[in-house]
Amino acid sequence: MSKKLAIEITNLTKSYEDVKAVRGIDLKINKGEFYGLLGPNGAGKSTTINSITSLVKPSKGSIKIFDQDIEKNFRFARSKIGIAQQEVSQDWFFPMEKLLYFQAGFYGVKKTKAKDRIDYILNKLGLDEHKNKKMRELSGGMKRRLQIAKALVHDPEIIILDEPTAGVDVELRHDLWVYLQELHKDGKTILLTTHYIDEAELLCERVGIIDNGKLIVEDSVNNLKKLVNKSSIVIHLKDDITSINFLNDFNHHISEKKVYVQTESPNLDLPKIILKFSEASVNIEDVHIPQTSLEDVFLDLTGRKIND
Ligand code: ADP
Repeated sequence: MSKKLAIEITNLTKSYEDVKAVRGIDLKINKGEFYGLLGPNGAGKSTTINSITSLVKPSKGSIKIFDQDIEKNFRFARSKIGIAQQEVSQDWFFPMEKLLYFQAGFYGVKKTKAKDRIDYILNKLGLDEHKNKKMRELSGGMKRRLQIAKALVHDPEIIILDEPTAGVDVELRHDLWVYLQELHKDGKTILLTTHYIDEAELLCERVGIIDNGKLIVEDSVNNLKKLVNKSSIVIHLKDDITSINFLNDFNHHISEKKVYVQTESPNLDLPKIILKFSEASVNIEDVHIPQTSLEDVFLDLTGRKIND
C-alpha cells in the first residue's frame, strides 16, 4: 500500500519579473514525515513553502494537501496547515497572548478551546511569563517563538517552519529542536527550511537539497552522505616524514606531518594500517576518520558551500 501523502507539489514554478525563484519543483512529503529543505540563501526555499500556504501565487504547477488541491479547497488546506514564516508580522500594538487569540479566531477555534490551547503552547515554548508583552518588548528569540506559537494555535496536522532557528541563540535552538521532535513523535508532518546543516542532519528523516530554484537531490541523510566518496583516514605523525614506502598497498599522500589514506572502508583498513606503522616503528600522534556531512554533499553537487 502506498503511504499517504500530506503534501504533493508538482512542477512548482515561480518567477518574479526577471527572477526565476523556483524552476519546476516536484516534492512529495508523507504523512507524519519530518522533511527538511536545505539550501543556501536565495535558493527558493521560502517561495516553495509560501506557495503551499497560498502566501505566494505560483506561476505554474499544482499543490495538493492530503490529496486535495489547495486552490480548489483553500479552506481545507488552511485548516490542515500551520506556518511559521520567517518575517515577523508587524502587530506592534497587542500583547502576545492577544495575538494568539486573534490567530485562534482566524482559524475558527472556539474561545474555550482556544484558552487551553494557548496556555499549553505558551508553556511549551517557554513564553508564558512574557504573554503580556507587546512585540516591541520581545527579544529576537521570543519573536521567533511567537511565530511558531501562532502556527500551532489550531493544532494543525502539517507544520511548516521557515528557518525556525535562524538568529536564535544556542540554548533556544536546542529547546526548539526538542519540541519539534516531540511534535514529530505525536505524528505531525513537519516541513522546515534551513541553511543550517546540523539542523537538517539532526532532525529530518529526509532532506531535499535545493539550489537555484531546483531540487537537486533528496533522500535520507545517510543515503545522501553515501553520494560523496570521501571515505578516508587521516594519520597525524609525531615526526616530519616525507615518504612511507610500507604503505604502498594503500592510495595515500603525505602533507605536513599528516598521512591521508583513501579507502572505501576506513573502519576495516584502519587496524591493518596501524599495524604497518607499528612494524615500521613510525610514531603516530593521532588518527581520525573524517565524517561526511551534508555540506560535503552540497559541495560535491554544486562546487560551492551552502553558507558561502
Ligand atoms: P530562500 O528562502 O531559499 O532564501 P527565496 O525563496 O526567499 O529563497 O528567494 C528565491 C529568489 O527569489 C531570490 O533570488 C529572491 O531574491 C527572489 N525573491 C523572493 N521573493 C521575492 C519577491 N517578493 N520579489 C522579487 N524577488 C523575490
